[in-house]
Amino acid sequence: QSKPQARVDGSTGVKFSDVAGIDEAVEELQELVRYLKNPELFDKMAIKPPHGVLLEGPPGCGKTLIAKAIAGEAGVPFYQMAGSEFVEVLVGVGSARIRDLFKRAKVNKPSVVFIDEIDALATRRQGIFSESTNYLYNAATQERETTLNQLLIELDGFDTGKGVIFLGATNRMDLLDPALLRPGRFDRKIRIRPPAAKGRLDILKVHARKVKMSPTVDLSTYAQNLSGWSGAKLAQLVQESALVAVRKGHDSILQSDMDEAVDRLTVGPKRLGIALG
Ligand code: ATP
Repeated sequence: QSKPQARVDGSTGVKFSDVAGIDEAVEELQELVRYLKNPELFDKMAIKPPHGVLLEGPPGCGKTLIAKAIAGEAGVPFYQMAGSEFVEVLVGVGSARIRDLFKRAKVNKPSVVFIDEIDALATRRQGIFSESTNYLYNAATQERETTLNQLLIELDGFDTGKGVIFLGATNRMDLLDPALLRPGRFDRKIRIRPPAAKGRLDILKVHARKVKMSPTVDLSTYAQNLSGWSGAKLAQLVQESALVAVRKGHDSILQSDMDEAVDRLTVGPKRLGIALG
């Protein structure tokens, strides 16, 4: 249980062309790819290397995908862990995992370290001398604070670990400890917004490329009508349409298959009406 469980991907294989609807974020992150491809050049030109980047936005809008695309474009290893995997009651386990994660990434640099749901380990510190008399509460809080301190130490020591990029993702920026947001730690914050109609169309097109979609299907109508749908839900829609098409014996996805899939993925009064009716 005390073993770190970073998932390592030799090369994620994800490219920026797999990411749609968040072009501005992609544009900003190109610099990280340039750096990972040639860290020595930044060194030679005395350009300050990028430190950490915080990706902030609602679930399912491409934070993990874009982090993987940075590693994939640069062709470097990708070390991924979730913030919740560092939260242990046993004192010292979380900080040991942090140390190990960065150690492995530095040995294999250039590389990318990605911590998803970083708010789980980096919530605002309250000080260990809390008024609470609950021992377990204090132990858990102390452990989380030790883990966060270790993360801050790793980020501050990045000069010795040149060639490692640190990316964190959260949908609760407001919970993060301000120390993490100080310059030199996360020196850039990038907002990943939910897609608007044009973004939804681009995302549908990216996923339609991976299946056999009939040219008669008008994706723009779906993009217009499915406001509020995340990239993850749109990807699921394409997958679900493919399943419907197979079940119906169609040799490509038809408009009626898409309609049925939309219906299946729509949770609300209309769907409930059908279920109850
Ligand atoms: P969470 O906060 O829940 O971890 P996330 O923002 O990291 O969410 P991803 O894991 O990147 O979301 O998205 C899940 C899947 O949804 C992706 O693997 C991809 O298939 C699809 N997807 C999401 N956003 C996009 C996008 N902008 N372009 C293309 N596909 C997307």
